[in-house]
Amino acid sequence: MVQVQALIKDRELLSYPCPDGFRIFLCCHADIMKLNPPVGKSIMNAGQKPVEATARAIIHVDMDAFYAAVECLDNPELKDQPVIVGGLGPRGVVATANYAARVFGVHSAMPMGRARRLCPQAQYIRPRMSRYREISALIFSVFRNFTPTVEGLSLDEAFLDVTSSLKLFGGLEEIGLQVKQEILRKTGLTASVGIAHNKFLAKLASDAQKPDGLVYVRPGEVHRFLDPMPVSRLWGIGKRTAPKLTALGILTIGQLRRCDASILRPVFGKRTEHFQNLARGEDDREVQPSRPDKSISHEVTFDTDLADRRELLAELLRQSEKVSRRLRAQELMASTVVVKIRDAGFHTVTRSRSMRACSNSTRTLYRMARALFESWREKHKTTPVRLIGMGVTGLEQESGDGKAAGDRLDSSTEKSLDKVLDRINQRYGDAKIVHGLALRRSKEDH
Ligand SMILES: [Mg+2]
Repeated sequence: MVQVQALIKDRELLSYPCPDGFRIFLCCHADIMKLNPPVGKSIMNAGQKPVEATARAIIHVDMDAFYAAVECLDNPELKDQPVIVGGLGPRGVVATANYAARVFGVHSAMPMGRARRLCPQAQYIRPRMSRYREISALIFSVFRNFTPTVEGLSLDEAFLDVTSSLKLFGGLEEIGLQVKQEILRKTGLTASVGIAHNKFLAKLASDAQKPDGLVYVRPGEVHRFLDPMPVSRLWGIGKRTAPKLTALGILTIGQLRRCDASILRPVFGKRTEHFQNLARGEDDREVQPSRPDKSISHEVTFDTDLADRRELLAELLRQSEKVSRRLRAQELMASTVVVKIRDAGFHTVTRSRSMRACSNSTRTLYRMARALFESWREKHKTTPVRLIGMGVTGLEQESGDGKAAGDRLDSSTEKSLDKVLDRINQRYGDAKIVHGLALRRSKEDH
């Protein structure tokens, strides 16, 4: 088994503290910001004079070829070579290709076999998620130096609402530039930055001059920026809708914007107005500061389909170990366990069960996952499995004494064992000793 994907929403990094004293200052600042009027409205100030609200100021930051860039950073020999990061098994897909590899037509989500045919000379590297998370935490600490309103979209991408920070940092373009410089200084990596008065435009702007770009779309420049773009750049217009628009002779966002709504209605129905608003560059969504993870999961696609019960259980135990370790690292407990199984025919089932109390013990979570797996297997005894995954939801904060409300599931022995294993892991990384134990334990469970 080769391709392991961490499906966690990459949000835990957001709880990392800002390393310098700057945050204290920002907290005070955030309080002041609460007093600011909501966008688009005016309020009366103490002197009863109307205060006009300013438009939003949004920055979208996207690291350039992030995983590949981190690999080049850690191994400078790779610099200037095509580098492709992703699953290396026969069913692997490209997670990130650097720009030297993109020249050959390689892009993310492409099957690895295709990438190898297009660019056989590239360096192929397995993802090192824990290293990417580490760098990501540094990047997000930079964001928080500029505003507390940060919405992480992935490890290397976020929206920043800097409306209230403008005066402090000397204007929008100046903030964009400072964010880029600060990221480069702290990590040695380049980011592309898009600036606009809403999220939709800021995201398109960050993509407009990659890599190492900085694009500011001013309110008066929206049509000039958007009109020439293909309609597929609008969120929600994919492979199914685009051909229908092509049939109507609508290829660009400008054409969509100017088109009479009655012509579009057969394609978009009730969402016609929504898409024409987007084509005009209008988008009201606020930057939503990220919350902690809602779920944590791991899954594996096997190189060859697997029907052996013991091997499948051993994999579930490995995943339970990883998931529970991440729970404990974040001082979280979970109430629901989910198991995902995809068979050779690509039928996917998910089974979930809530526990009578929360847990973050490897053994408890594994027992639950195993029961879910066994209930599936009763009816599918000889079905080969292509993918198996294990996850948890219903997360809540562990209280100081290691218990969530009503927690009675995890015995003190289990807790001590988990603690010891966590410590070994912290010290030696993903140590073989833990995997060996996982396999042995799975045997004992039979
Ligand atoms: Mg990126």
